Amino acid sequence: MPEIRLENVSKLYKEDGKMHYALRDFTITVEQGEFVFLIGSSGAGKSTLLKLMGGEIPPDRGTVYVNNLNVARMVGPWRARVARTFGIVNQECLLIRKRTIRDNLLLAASAVGMRRKAQKAVTKALGIVGMPDVEDCYPAELSIGECRRVELARALVSSPPILLLDELTANLDDDNIWDLMHLLNELNSKGTTIVMATHASRYVNIMRRRVVTLVDGKLLGDVRKGKYGDIV
Ligand code: ADP
Repeated sequence: MPEIRLENVSKLYKEDGKMHYALRDFTITVEQGEFVFLIGSSGAGKSTLLKLMGGEIPPDRGTVYVNNLNVARMVGPWRARVARTFGIVNQECLLIRKRTIRDNLLLAASAVGMRRKAQKAVTKALGIVGMPDVEDCYPAELSIGECRRVELARALVSSPPILLLDELTANLDDDNIWDLMHLLNELNSKGTTIVMATHASRYVNIMRRRVVTLVDGKLLGDVRKGKYGDIV
């Protein structure tokens, strides 16, 4: 089963004419089946780390491995296989406003090479997130909590072994956060790896999972069964 490993990974961006580390010399391994919270203030590098893990952006230094394979070296069908390994929910909503939920999810399915059984996978994914009746709706007809669930369904369409979630619970009320956390817990208990950037400290403290803390692109703490703010 897939394991993600980053070895001495750095990612740099240009800011005001100067190079700036979004992530610096970062080493981490996430085993299949883990539930990992990424925490840290805004700009700490959480999104960058998730994008590197999922192969959405390449590292400037170091290597990202998925199942001991260097993601940077994967092209063509291998690349597609990596894409199917990950279900990704980004901070920015990826649902297309002019398409129904069904079309949005079918597009996500075809983006990872699913043709036959795509509709069945869409129905199944919406069922998992408890939204079986929204296939004909448009994103604007849903509440923000429902939208986040549909985005999670979009990520689940290819039944990926790993979910990379960036601020999935941002701007949600307690009931919605709790429902989503419950759902993620359930998916994790069935074997799905979850790596989730979050500010939802209360829920991190209740769930007591692995807590990885970033500061200025560096690893400050990595604690099993941790709480928000734990560094050892
Ligand atoms: P977080 O998710 O913890 O808020 P990010 O990974 O988004 O942090 O950002 C880390 C740093 O990298 C920040 O200083 C941010 O401005 C910078 N950064 C991230 N993405 C880009 C980009 N595409 N272009 C320029 N700078 C970026």
